[in-house]
Amino acid sequence: MAAYCRPRTVSEALAVMAGAEGHGRILLGGTDLLVHLRKDPFAPTVIVDLKSVADLPPAVEVGDDVVRFGPTARMAAISNDPFVAGHLPALGAAARVVGSVAIRNRATLIGNICNASPAADTAPALLIYGSAVTMTGPGGERTMPLAEFFVGPGETRCGPDEIVIRIDVPIPDRGHRSAFQRLTRRRGVDLATVSVAAGVDAVGNIVLGLGCVGPTPLLTDASPPVDLADSAAVERAIESLVSIATPISDVRAARDYREAMVRVLATRAVQAAAAAPERWSF
Ligand SMILES: Cc1cc2nc3c(=O)[nH]c(=O)nc-3n(C[C@H](O)[C@H](O)[C@H](O)COP(=O)(O)OP(=O)(O)OC[C@H]3O[C@@H](n4cnc5c(N)ncnc54)[C@H](O)[C@@H]3O)c2cc1C
Repeated sequence: MAAYCRPRTVSEALAVMAGAEGHGRILLGGTDLLVHLRKDPFAPTVIVDLKSVADLPPAVEVGDDVVRFGPTARMAAISNDPFVAGHLPALGAAARVVGSVAIRNRATLIGNICNASPAADTAPALLIYGSAVTMTGPGGERTMPLAEFFVGPGETRCGPDEIVIRIDVPIPDRGHRSAFQRLTRRRGVDLATVSVAAGVDAVGNIVLGLGCVGPTPLLTDASPPVDLADSAAVERAIESLVSIATPISDVRAARDYREAMVRVLATRAVQAAAAAPERWSF
């Protein structure tokens, strides 16, 4: 059985992780970790609970051009945050559909990203805004684009002795609009079968974040400028963007179905973004 540890500072947490020699696991909300603990290959010797760490960055901090989310930022808070709703609507919408009320009250944004499921609902939205992940470890802090953070299902570039302490989301320009769409097998609590976040800038460049259609959440390149009122042009742009998808068949859907649905959801997400009001001002 793994030991349970509740450090008071980040450096104490890092020391415990270093001492565990790759067998330490960070605990935030525990909504993924406790499920994984029951799986055989996942055999941590120590669980490091960050919830009493006093010197973590704040849950949500709005700067001049960036919103910073710390380890204690929970889905419930993100989905109810008016600044997120106004400036990062795809992220607010994604946080709003994670699990149930009870799950959203525990599940954190950083936990969702560190769990690295291709179905992580917040990942496509974070990707289209150009988010960056900051880790701290024995060698100090390092930051990388979220698009480079995911390696494969359940695998990230966060080292075994590192802790993700922040996700920075640049605040989009005023003319930028975004939306999130997901498909589930049933209403209520279910992981996504396919999910798409779309961002459209003031000149009609489209960028998509795709979930459940590859081994990691995927970020497309930006399309050339598209006339969003021209549905054939939008369809051509989407067709080209979603060509990076490499879905598999699993318990949730067949590959062909996902291939078809990623186009449908991308079209809906772009339409919803194009129809959205300009971001709010505060
Ligand atoms: C019933 C149920 C329904 C769910 N529905 C959805 C859904 O609809 N959509 C969805 O996307 N997800 C869903 N989830 C998954 C889950 O709720 C999310 O992934 C959640 O956001 C994880 O956050 P957490 O704080 O609970 O993370 P934890 O479980 O505490 O941690 C998750 C993983 O990340 C690692 N980790 C956590 N924090 C750090 C850190 N700071 N640095 C390094 N590693 C870290 C942990 O060691 C662990 O491996 C569901 C889960 C359940 C149980």
